[in-house]
Amino acid sequence: ARKFFVGGNFKMNGTSESIKKIIKNLNDSKLDSNVEVVIAPPALYLQLAKAEVKQPTVQVSAQNVYDKPDGAFTGEISVSQLADSDIHWTILGHSERRTLLGETDEIVASKTKFAIDGGLSVVWCCGESLAEREAGNTVAVVERQLAALAAKISGADWQKVVIAYEPIWAIGTGKVATVQQAQEAHEAIRNWLKAKVSDDVAEQTRILYGGSVKGDNSKDLAKEKDIDGFLVGGASLKPEFVDIINSNL
Ligand code: 13P
Repeated sequence: ARKFFVGGNFKMNGTSESIKKIIKNLNDSKLDSNVEVVIAPPALYLQLAKAEVKQPTVQVSAQNVYDKPDGAFTGEISVSQLADSDIHWTILGHSERRTLLGETDEIVASKTKFAIDGGLSVVWCCGESLAEREAGNTVAVVERQLAALAAKISGADWQKVVIAYEPIWAIGTGKVATVQQAQEAHEAIRNWLKAKVSDDVAEQTRILYGGSVKGDNSKDLAKEKDIDGFLVGGASLKPEFVDIINSNL
């Protein structure tokens, strides 16, 4: 069985004070011990977050990493610097980086391979825009993104990947995908993995849903057979993040 996974993507939010408060709330709460939790604060606060987390099931993640070992790449952070800081996770390919920072499918795939080779686990994000959904291209877009990834990684690499399906129209809009829309997309992703990678990878890879997940809609989504957790933005900054982690209780 796939272990339920809940990620908190803080994006470019927070201060030392607010991040300490968010983590204190996690530390003081009873969290479902069967759920793997990862929180991703801005890079500047990764070490603070590491120091503050007391829950054994909560790990700290970067939001991005570069695909070169070191050198003249102003503003970027390397995989080995994360490892040196005892950070073992990164998010990659978030739609905000794809659309605002120009990351192509190939760049995201290359970063994912580089991160895995450097020992990191990756929450790899995909998802369609509203125009793409309305044109009936949801599955085609996600399959294109997956194909770029599968061209770069293979075999045991997949064990280090958690997929996050995040329809862009649902991110930060309060317009959560319906349970059926989410389940259909997740099933399409799992079927693609089965057809193009392997039965084992399809069976074992966690597929998270992201986009306006809240404490009051996560329980229903979590019941679907191909939804193995969530990647949460706005609500991960609030106490209701605990309710999302505990969706199965
Ligand atoms: P919201 O939960 O704020 O919609 O953001 C989702 C997201 O982009 C997580 O990566």
